[in-house]
Amino acid sequence: MNASSWTTAAYLIAALLFVISLAGLSKHETSRAGVLFGVIGMGIALIATVATALESASGLGIVLLAVTVVIGGAIGLWRARVVEMTGMPELIALMHSFVGLAAVLVGWNGFLEVSSGHTDLTGALLGIHHGEVVVGVFIGAVTFTGSIVAYLKLSAKIASKPLQLPGKNVLNLGALVAFAALTVLFVITPTWWLLGVVTVLALLLGVHLVASIGGGDMPVVVSMLNSYSGWAAAASGFLLSNDLLIITGALVGSSGAFLSYVMCKAMNRSFISVIAGGFGAPASSGGAEVTGEHREIDAAGVAELLAAARSVVITPGYGMAVAQAQYPVAELTRQLREQGVGVRFGVHPVAGRLPGHMNVLLAEVQVPYDIVLEMDEINDDLAETDVVLVIGANDTVNPAAAEDPASPIAGMPVLRVWESADVVVFKRSMATGYAGVQNPLFFRENTQMLFGDAKDRVQDILAALKGHALT
Ligand code: NDP
Repeated sequence: MNASSWTTAAYLIAALLFVISLAGLSKHETSRAGVLFGVIGMGIALIATVATALESASGLGIVLLAVTVVIGGAIGLWRARVVEMTGMPELIALMHSFVGLAAVLVGWNGFLEVSSGHTDLTGALLGIHHGEVVVGVFIGAVTFTGSIVAYLKLSAKIASKPLQLPGKNVLNLGALVAFAALTVLFVITPTWWLLGVVTVLALLLGVHLVASIGGGDMPVVVSMLNSYSGWAAAASGFLLSNDLLIITGALVGSSGAFLSYVMCKAMNRSFISVIAGGFGAPASSGGAEVTGEHREIDAAGVAELLAAARSVVITPGYGMAVAQAQYPVAELTRQLREQGVGVRFGVHPVAGRLPGHMNVLLAEVQVPYDIVLEMDEINDDLAETDVVLVIGANDTVNPAAAEDPASPIAGMPVLRVWESADVVVFKRSMATGYAGVQNPLFFRENTQMLFGDAKDRVQDILAALKGHALT
């Protein structure tokens, strides 16, 4: 077998491992194995790519390759080690921006090869090559700036509320029409300035698309940019004639698109509306003013409620991740279950800051999978539940989504925790959640607030429960 056959075989094995990895990641029980298959596949792909490059590389090329692999690998290892779980969405958004930037650079390089005469392509094949260049640069540049804006929003460096430029739909549509016209022009008369115009247009479109999407819809943006980064990589694969990059890009692109669709359905949002930067979304008035008196409870009071309860549902949210409260929450669950109290978890599809965020935290502390239910599986049982503990969740349990048509999150399905006999909300203040929407749940008659860091408060409850014989 010659070197190129080895590379093809390695790429094929890596591609198969990526498919198996995706299948594994779709279930709790097999997700660890899924990650492992992905890591092995990526390892094989990297070794095969480096080995192929070494065959034709000059001495300087080899040094450059080694330096970039070492620097890139070191930064990747360092970031992965220090990143907090709550910082993952920002990190992922940043990584997507690198994929986008890489696609832009590969595209420019593809044109540089032609303009400097380093290509054998002629006729229709040259036209196709130019088409690939312009499409790759366009998707890459949209992904690049879109991901940077997503990073800034997710890390709260800029406000998460949607940018409402006048005629924003016309702007988006106009940019797409201009892109189509410029692509045709570039294929006929390829010039640097045309490619420059496409790049700038796509950079601006990326900013506008993501800036126009409001806080509550950000989960979809994260998975949508994931999808875009996949298509950008696939476009680079065509330019570099790299089959593995095409397959991997298509896998990421289509699974990201499917995830965006699933999340839109879960949030009762129009898929087209969100991917088109909030196209057709009615301008929200911000919702009705929420006022009222809230009631407070202390840890001893919650321990009493729990001691008397037969059924308890815990709905975790972003605050549980911030406080790292999953450890005492798992201990509380274990103790209550030992005493015969039925404890289950209700997980909203967009709780936390990334898809599956709560599931990962609960799996980390070995909460049994069979008591972790999705929103749709548990919502109808909440009316028969004695106590719901809302631990660091806010938007995902906000009744305004169901009851106030003017609310920015109107129509988003939520956990109907207010239907249970007693609700205890764990948070540090009366502040709003990610979407910046006030929450009338806090003022309901059956709701009591337990203020403070969620981890400290759950530990206080555990201490208070020690003095309580559970009935
Ligand atoms: P929210 O972001 O709505 O609310 C989290 C709450 O946790 C806050 O009200 C905060 O209140 C509280 N909190 C923060 N730190 C602590 C702490 N240490 N101890 C106790 N409480 C704390 O959370 P949800 O999970 O309900 O909703 C997720 C939101 O994020 C949705 O709007 C979703 O659209 C969005 N989003 C989701 C993504 C995903 O993929 N899952 C991605 C991007 C955005 P206080 O400050 O008073 O303590």
